[in-house]
Amino acid sequence: MTTAPSGAVPVLLDLRAHRRVPTSAQGYIDLWQRLEPALTTVDPRRGPRVSLDLGAEGEVTVLFLSPATAPVPLDAATPFAVRGILEPPQVRYACDTCRGEGVTTYAPFTCAGCGSDERPGRVCDAHAVFLEGGLRASCARHVPVCPCGRTAHAWCAGPRCRSGRAWCPQHLVPRTADTALDYCLDCHAERFPACERPGCTATGHVRCEHRMPGDTKGCGQRMCAEHAMLWQIYGSRSRGLALCGHHHRGLRASDPATLVALMLAGTAARSQARRSARSPSQARRAAFLPRLGIVRHIFINTCNQVLDMSTVDSLFVRLQRELSRRGASNDRRDLTERALHLLDQHAASRREDVQRFRDSHEEGRRHLDRLRTLLRQSGKQQLADAVDFSDYRPRSNILFVKVPKELQGRFKGTRGAVVKELEARLGITIKLERE
Ligand SMILES: [Zn+2]
Ligand SMILES: [Zn+2]
Ligand SMILES: [Zn+2]
Ligand SMILES: [Zn+2]
Ligand SMILES: [Zn+2]
Ligand SMILES: [Zn+2]
Repeated sequence: MTTAPSGAVPVLLDLRAHRRVPTSAQGYIDLWQRLEPALTTVDPRRGPRVSLDLGAEGEVTVLFLSPATAPVPLDAATPFAVRGILEPPQVRYACDTCRGEGVTTYAPFTCAGCGSDERPGRVCDAHAVFLEGGLRASCARHVPVCPCGRTAHAWCAGPRCRSGRAWCPQHLVPRTADTALDYCLDCHAERFPACERPGCTATGHVRCEHRMPGDTKGCGQRMCAEHAMLWQIYGSRSRGLALCGHHHRGLRASDPATLVALMLAGTAARSQARRSARSPSQARRAAFLPRLGIVRHIFINTCNQVLDMSTVDSLFVRLQRELSRRGASNDRRDLTERALHLLDQHAASRREDVQRFRDSHEEGRRHLDRLRTLLRQSGKQQLADAVDFSDYRPRSNILFVKVPKELQGRFKGTRGAVVKELEARLGITIKLERE
């Protein structure tokens, strides 16, 4: 190649079909020296374009920019001026696998195994390998490996792996109709826990909510919706606390103070979960302490104890005092603070309930006195002595009474005739408190 003296023959080098495009000035000089002897044998006037075959390296096309003014014939002394060079388009992201085979191919995907830390390797459409459950590609040599060392088959979509760990078929749970995704064994057990009932194949989506104040977590035993036992402490319209079989059976033998503690801790846990609700069902779940009237009936139904309202109230007050004395620990899972907050909120309604209970109590007592009088008048002295007051609901006009089991038949009469007669004469509804 010569610098362009006046009269030099101007040419353009088209290297787009050349496989070994020079990367340096010396490379171009070497290339030109290989081209020039062949070039001086052609006649530019027969066509401006001359292709020179370089064998395995492809070909170079020389374009005479001004064929009419070129000297005839060209010879070794003819000066040439290279006015421009057309290079093959640069593939910025070339497939590393293809490059190994001497081919340059555009590679839209990255392979973390190829390349360096700063710049990941690339892989083309044809060489990219994708595992199930993920859009991360790799080349065939760098397919992710299961922790056991075998080639991985799929990314785990579970809560622990979050599609960031790949596993072999032996360490993935086979898919079922329920699981459209792949899960490793641990994630599957967490995502689809077994129901505690032996033989039940349903997923245990429900956790046992049994816990005591001061516990950092609840029982957590898993049950399917059908086998979860609900302790209805929030009234009929809200879903009660879910309990495992063991803890549900334990309620009956628990004393009222323990039951109040369970209600409080269970409700505090729900209230906490609502604040950081991860699912709409958590956010909707009831998280308030039941009113005293309900608590009183919970005792009657659960552990068969009939307490008056101030006694029920005192259980809450005692628990509140105990918790404030103990104070919250630094553990974030400690619910003491939440529990105290719930008790604070509950206090006003408790005062109201105790007062209303006292008022209705007096009214109820008067109904009971009249009931006893009627029984005595009809010669049922033993019943009159035995019947006792339990509760009175002024709004629904229901008097709850306690009658010893062995006298209940006589109190009700044949097909309830005695009670019906008493109800008619007193103008109230009479109910026997469940024993
Ligand atoms: Zn490739
Ligand atoms: Zn690779
Ligand atoms: Zn997993
Ligand atoms: Zn494996
Ligand atoms: Zn079940
Ligand atoms: Zn449990």
